[in-house]
Amino acid sequence: MISLFDMFKIGIGPSSSHTMGPMVAAGLFLDEVRQHHHLQHIKRIQVDLYGSLASTGKGHATDTACILGLLGFKAHSIDTNHVDDYLAPVLNDQQLLLNNEHLIRFEYDQDIVWHPQNSLPFHPNGLSFTTSDNQGNEFSQTYYSIGGGFVTTEDASAEADDVAITSDSHVPYPFKNGNELLALCEAHQMSISDIMLANEMSIRDKDTIYNYLDEVWEVMQQCVKNGCKGKGVLPGGLKVKRRAKDIYQQLLDELESPQKVTDKLMAMDWVDLYALAVNEENANGGRVVTAPTNGAAGIIPAVLHYYRDFFPNYSLQGVREFLLTAAAIGTIIKQNASISGAEVGCQGEVGSACSMAAAGLAHLLGLSPSQCTNAAEIGIEHNLGLTCDPIGGLVQIPCIERNAMGAVKAINAARLASRGDGEHHVSLDKAIATMKATGADMMDKYKETAMGGLAVHAYNPQQAGTDASRIEVVEVGVGYPQC
Ligand code: SF4
Repeated sequence: MISLFDMFKIGIGPSSSHTMGPMVAAGLFLDEVRQHHHLQHIKRIQVDLYGSLASTGKGHATDTACILGLLGFKAHSIDTNHVDDYLAPVLNDQQLLLNNEHLIRFEYDQDIVWHPQNSLPFHPNGLSFTTSDNQGNEFSQTYYSIGGGFVTTEDASAEADDVAITSDSHVPYPFKNGNELLALCEAHQMSISDIMLANEMSIRDKDTIYNYLDEVWEVMQQCVKNGCKGKGVLPGGLKVKRRAKDIYQQLLDELESPQKVTDKLMAMDWVDLYALAVNEENANGGRVVTAPTNGAAGIIPAVLHYYRDFFPNYSLQGVREFLLTAAAIGTIIKQNASISGAEVGCQGEVGSACSMAAAGLAHLLGLSPSQCTNAAEIGIEHNLGLTCDPIGGLVQIPCIERNAMGAVKAINAARLASRGDGEHHVSLDKAIATMKATGADMMDKYKETAMGGLAVHAYNPQQAGTDASRIEVVEVGVGYPQC
């Protein structure tokens, strides 16, 4: 079983696999170094980034995430407003205070080595850290950032960290797939949320679980607030203009305007806004919750804000049950397919988030467990085949708008499910299996390498459909110029 604490991690943008994961890996490496050596003897440290981490690592701040991890910062607690200050001594003066205790020389150009053409066989998101001491002894470890901030080694010896606590503890209601989950709900007359909570309570007490869910919801709301204030362009070189602030002001103005209040689809504009706000914050390196990844971090908060602002019966308990239901669906997807864009394309990120949010909202609509899994199935089915093709390797285009589309789709999936009785031709498990198979068939250039799709076609202003005004400079993504 995967804990909801793993599914919803409080962290830093712009990417769970390419930013948070490498930062976690750097922390795990420091722990390993401490077990085998004295930190004080280290003279030099080299970071090797492979495959997708190298192809799109600059755009995803993989390099600086590794440095921050080596400095001793944790993704869930770092002050995202001072990242530049923390990085300045390293990038300007070549001084890296390893784990905030041992100063070494770190030359960015030499000590971070990019291998965009070399993807390690175990997983496309591989990275190695190698230390050498005064005697020339070396110590090296390779990690894999497998999506959603999860990090592992080939022998799974270093999976857990102090953010993510994956537990193999015995749970009262174990389930591996949607069918097993539904059978449990029926046999025990429990909701999906009840099942997930009971399983979580085998690891932690209810107060701890609820406190964490409340914190997750707080971070999501703060993220939307921050996103609605953000001005200017997003970092990375594409000069993508932040839009949430202007849209927020437009919507506030329209609320005051009598003729616009009758717009029946006004709620959709707000849902779009919430998602844009989160994903602009994420692209800006702000504080976000993986839900289940950073790239898809806007969908669940957007649907929850929709619940908060458009449901008369909104309650904090409703938010908790939504998140528990969504987490149950996320664990099934992660165990049976993937939530990583580098493994299965965007269907694994935005598709998974859409599916999770649809199930959560279906629960809040008072639907049965089978209607909830129907909503989840609709959410994933209509994202099948969705490729990952971030322009310039940045989690901006198409990612930001894609979250808005995913949030609206999740709401529609829940509403569609509410019109049925839970019976559906394609089961959730079949949709997830299809997602996995589709991901396996998908060419690598559509899996977070920024070497296909929009990442190629929207770059060239001569090509049809290109909005050249949105792309002024592309200097990011080491693999990108080879396209
Ligand atoms: S296209 Fe989708 S999977 Fe790829 S980086 Fe953007 S949100 Fe993530």
